[in-house]
Amino acid sequence: MTTSSPDTSVVVIGAGQAGLSVSYYLKRLGLDPGNDFVVLDRGPGTGGAWQFRWEALRIGSAHRINDLPGLDELGISFETADRQSPAKDVVADYYQRYEEHYDFHVVRPADVTSVKNSGTDLVVNFTLDGEEKEVTTVTVVNATGTWGAPFIPWYPGAPSFAGRHWHTNDYVAAEDFAGLNVVVVGGGTSAIGFLLELENVAASTTWVSRRPIDFLEDGELNLEARVEGVRIQDEAARAGRALPSIVSGTGVPRTRRIQAGIERGVLTPRPMFDSIEPNGVRWADGAFQPADAIIWSTGFRPELRHLAPLKLREREGGVVVAQGASWKDPRVFFAGYGPQASTIGANRAGRLIARQVIATLSKLQASR
Ligand SMILES: Cc1cc2nc3c(=O)[nH]c(=O)nc-3n(C[C@H](O)[C@H](O)[C@H](O)COP(=O)(O)OP(=O)(O)OC[C@H]3O[C@@H](n4cnc5c(N)ncnc54)[C@H](O)[C@@H]3O)c2cc1C
Repeated sequence: MTTSSPDTSVVVIGAGQAGLSVSYYLKRLGLDPGNDFVVLDRGPGTGGAWQFRWEALRIGSAHRINDLPGLDELGISFETADRQSPAKDVVADYYQRYEEHYDFHVVRPADVTSVKNSGTDLVVNFTLDGEEKEVTTVTVVNATGTWGAPFIPWYPGAPSFAGRHWHTNDYVAAEDFAGLNVVVVGGGTSAIGFLLELENVAASTTWVSRRPIDFLEDGELNLEARVEGVRIQDEAARAGRALPSIVSGTGVPRTRRIQAGIERGVLTPRPMFDSIEPNGVRWADGAFQPADAIIWSTGFRPELRHLAPLKLREREGGVVVAQGASWKDPRVFFAGYGPQASTIGANRAGRLIARQVIATLSKLQASR
């Protein structure tokens, strides 16, 4: 049981789009950054997961990156950023200026290892430059994204593969695959982006997907597809189920670049293989494709390991989250989770969650 007062009222874990957006609204609602709320982030630099994205992902080839709330005060916008610049650099730069402008005092590289219940308060344990630290707080906003929890499905023979298994989050540049036979797994835009980049670099590319690809006629994600994708995610989050893949709800926009790739025959998906052998992959009908590398563009899961001591997980595999708040522990909020896992969703989460945090703090402080 905690008897002394906590170090702070809110700990925000993660300084990506979601954590920064929550911080912006907390400050607007009167909380003092660094005192009333503390932001901890594991990344070595600014930019959230974007700082780790591959060089060839340009502002112009990403889906739309929405501006953080209040970014206009700095006179910058992703809308007017150079479309040819690497998204990783532009986002890192804009977030850095944003953090400085709003004086968020983000603590990094602070890796949160656990959040524990200590009676009325929560204890957040983290390492900072190798040193173990802790901060006590009334509420926690988890905004840790998914980049640190890549998902690779299991297929027979996977450990016997003599080549290398890659995941989207290992991919740096096409040159790493020069002269190799590459199998790309997954039905989303990351898989498609890799196939297009590797076209004249790899010895061969083979595309496999568990589901037939739902190419949308529009060149951009249309509103209806987006709404349906968000609804599917929201339904799963409210039911405490593991979150389904975003692309299963939205489909893949048929941009001019993608359409040209389809016409050149680079984007012709095959069904999923059945097993992996040391030198390639094999389908049930006996067909074999030699492979030196398999790139798994098979998505991510929310990064929640550090919350395990709070026992928020349901048997269904997920956490029950409605309107950004945990159903099991109303002191714990989830920003950027499920239906909020996009830059625009993270912005909306910021406003919604900051208001709820303030309401929860007043309720809890009145009852202390
Ligand atoms: C390949 C790819 C491309 C995408 N492209 C787009 C796009 O074009 N447009 C769009 O709207 N969305 C896109 N998305 C979705 C994207 O994930 C979100 O838009 C947004 O960047 C997520 O923000 P976030 O703050 O939730 O997560 P992140 O940006 O991942 O930020 C989470 C932060 O939490 C930190 N963290 C994690 N765990 C801990 C811990 N234990 N302790 C301390 N800190 C921790 C991380 O270091 C990170 O800084 C893309 C996703 C992927 C995977």
